[in-house]
This record gives sequence, C-alpha cells and structure tokens, in this order.
Amino acid sequence: MKAIDLHCDTLSALRRAHKEGAELNLAENDLQIDLAKLEKGGSLIQCFAAFVFLKGEEDPFAAALEEIDEFYAAMERWPDRITPVKTRADLERVLAGDKIGALLTVEEGGVCKGNPALLRTLYRLGARIMTLTWNFENELAWPNDIDMATGASVPNNANGLKERGREFVAEMERLGMIVDVSHLGDAGFWDVAHMATRPFIATHSNARAVCGHTRNLTDEMLRAVADKGGVTGINFCGSFLDPGEKPYSTAKWMADHIEHIRSVGGIDMIALGSDFDGIERELELNDYSKLPLLEAELHRRHFSDDEIEKIFCGNALRLLKEFLPEN
Ligand SMILES: [Zn+2]
Repeated sequence: MKAIDLHCDTLSALRRAHKEGAELNLAENDLQIDLAKLEKGGSLIQCFAAFVFLKGEEDPFAAALEEIDEFYAAMERWPDRITPVKTRADLERVLAGDKIGALLTVEEGGVCKGNPALLRTLYRLGARIMTLTWNFENELAWPNDIDMATGASVPNNANGLKERGREFVAEMERLGMIVDVSHLGDAGFWDVAHMATRPFIATHSNARAVCGHTRNLTDEMLRAVADKGGVTGINFCGSFLDPGEKPYSTAKWMADHIEHIRSVGGIDMIALGSDFDGIERELELNDYSKLPLLEAELHRRHFSDDEIEKIFCGNALRLLKEFLPEN
C-alpha cells in the first residue's frame, strides 16, 4: 500500500550530524527514515519538517534555512529516487512515476519571529504545511503546558492565538500553506477552529480519549477537524499511543486510535504522521520499512481496502490536491 507520512524529523537529524562533521546521508543510514526504508515501506510522499528547537538556536530562521538546505541537498544528490513536491504538477508527476515525492513542512512557527515576510519566504522555498508552535510559547500562540523534564502535560485553556497568530492563520490560508495544529495548546486549537475558512490539520496527533496526553486531540477537537475537512496523522510515539506506565508503540495501539477516530470523526479524517526520527527507537514499527505491519493489523480488524487506502494516502492526497498551487 502506497503511503503519505505527514511528519518526520529526519532533516534535524541530518543537520545535527553535519554540524558535528559526521557522515550521514538520506539514502542509507541508521535513522528511522532513509530512502531504502521509504522504498521498502511503500512511500508515495514523505513530509520532511524543518524543526527548530527555539531555545537552542541563536537565529531560529537561519536554523530553519539550514534544514531546508538539507532537504534540497538530498533531492539534488538522489534525483532518480526522490523529488520535491511544491505544486500540483509535481504531485501528478510523482503519482505517474516511480520516485518518492518529498514535501517540505515547518515545525515551529516561531522561526518567523511574527514576521509575515518570513512566512511568505518559507512558502516560496516550498514549505506547504507549518505548525504554529512547538512546545514553547512564541509570537503566534501558546502550546499546552508541557514539563520538558518529565513530559507530563496539562491543557492550556486560557491562552490561545495571539494577534500575530491570527494574522498568520489568515495569511497561510491565503497563500495555500496548510495550518498544522499539532503542538498547539487547547485554547489555540479552538481559536484556529473558529476562525479557519479552509481545512486545517494535525500532522502528528492521536486521540486523547484513548491516550490522555495533551499532544492528542479530544473527541470535540477531532470533530472540529473533520467538520472543516482536515485530517489528523497517527503519531507512532509510544507516549501518545499507550496510556500505560511503560508506554509502548505497536500497530495494535495505532489501530485502537484509528478505530476511535473513525467512530468520532469518520474515516476521511485519518492519515499518518509517524514522527519518525523525533521519537524513541524501541517500538514495534521501529522504522519506515515496517509500515506494512499497520496495514496488516487494519486488515485483521476488517477495515476495507478502501478505508486503508484513505488512511495510508487518500485523505492526505485530497488535501494536497486542494492546497498545492497549479504550477
Ligand atoms: Zn512534533
């Protein structure tokens, strides 16, 4: 089954290694994603996030540009295997050919420092999806409150989008950059849901009713995403799947979330957002090549071929077709 994965942090791993002078490339490596694993797992399109840890960077926008440089350097090095997708024409070429499509995204709207000129610059560089926040307050909005030491989190129902955040949502909709609410606080989520005139998505968030972490979406939030025609990408991180004391990431847990989300928001709102290379290594689907294990689990639970196709790529494809510029 061909798949679209809405989120991974592989660019950050490449940038970190290259800053340290280490040899690490996208074709073959010991990360969770490389070209060999993507090909084996059935990748149609992989979204690569330029992720910036705001408090660790003197110049967050420059850091984002360095990750974008990693993205294009890899495309230029293996043009026969992977190709950037910025337009609908690029998308059609990927659908008709045998190369993997690569879509650039940004995880941390704070890299723009609240400056819409920088947002437009990211769009011109090919970024087509962006989270408004990561786990820090920035110029745009507040996340939920996450204790960085323990990972414990509490909903933030008080502080949502800032004035600048509202401007960014409107400008992203005008540009055709998809608003990503993963990592956004609960109040911010509802501000986006209330003001959005186009579909918005959570690239890598699960169901809070199944696993109580505030990185996941409540049933009301899932319905709000579905109402606007958006999707949520199933995150493979154990802590967002399994509510137990020693969270473990398995295809069974993923399927539990998928069944719940289907019952709440419908099959058309479910996609994949592995979070590979941003999550632990001890998991059942420990790299991209294991993706067929999830397909097998969904078959075992009597999901139809059509439903599995929607989860693996159809729903994400619907949004890309709607948002990507013609040429
Ligand atoms: Zn994330």
